[in-house]
Amino acid sequence: MNGTSFKPSNRYYGLIRPASISPGYTASSFSVFLSATRPPRNLLSSAAMKDRAPASAAPPSRKLAGISHAHSENSFDASCTYPELRRLFMSKGLNFACMTEHIEYLEQSDLDRIVRQCREASDDQFLFIPGIEMDCWVVYFLGIKDPRVDFTDNRTIYESLKAQSQLCVLSHPIKAKFSYPDWIVADCHAVEIMNNKHDGKFYFRPQSEALLRRIRQAKPEVVPIVGMDFHAPAQLCDVHMRLMREGPLDADFILGEIRAARTEFFAGRQRLTDVGVAGRMLRRMRIHLMDFAHFINLTLRKSGFRIPGSIRRPLSRLLEGG
Ligand SMILES: [Zn+2]
Repeated sequence: MNGTSFKPSNRYYGLIRPASISPGYTASSFSVFLSATRPPRNLLSSAAMKDRAPASAAPPSRKLAGISHAHSENSFDASCTYPELRRLFMSKGLNFACMTEHIEYLEQSDLDRIVRQCREASDDQFLFIPGIEMDCWVVYFLGIKDPRVDFTDNRTIYESLKAQSQLCVLSHPIKAKFSYPDWIVADCHAVEIMNNKHDGKFYFRPQSEALLRRIRQAKPEVVPIVGMDFHAPAQLCDVHMRLMREGPLDADFILGEIRAARTEFFAGRQRLTDVGVAGRMLRRMRIHLMDFAHFINLTLRKSGFRIPGSIRRPLSRLLEGG
């Protein structure tokens, strides 16, 4: 925390970077983590699930698919309402969305409204799981039921959310330069090894995989997760996660399965862990090509040249994977 200053306000400004960075978690290798992180195929048959559940009160058990990391109009940089999000996500065959509203500019009453809106837009067909993202620490928290947040400063907000959530996720590690303070690593349960906004839609980002591998050396219980980072309909994509076991459409069940690594990641019908060695190499090359194109675009913009939208948009779609 040395060198970090906080705004003396009950508002959160979200522009503060973590000061204490641990070089121990810096990663740059390209090697594959799949064998180390592939979740156990501990499938439970639907018959076995039914045997365990009470006959009358149990909600229906089924295979569930969903996404993590999405923003509604409650985030300062997103515009969709919860009913709009529900329609969009259900059009992709999804059952749940773990929301990650930006804490910036929110107050306690906003958090109460978010939890209420999540509940109101959920039913037995689709579930919104409330969550909050803190860009200043490059993390998000999932499974917040009735948050009471101390808005004194960024660290008290972090501690409040940590204490009242079920999962702490290192989000888009590229924005943290693949390096997090030890105290955040000690709290985290999952690493976003693929963020569709920042990493494209091809494959897990190698540096984020390496970060996860490093963290798992000390904390083997930390699991991978993929995040869509949805802000607008144009960002809707086919990358999603599927739970390996059948179960109820219930936040505790879903987050428990994610935390136990009983999840699989898909791009459309393609299970990403099934991609062969050559396919992985090709997809990783496309990530680096995308990064290079972003670098060129940024450099041009800094020198005052903007690529016309009619060229930039289709080029982005091609480079980022549609
Ligand atoms: Zn986000």
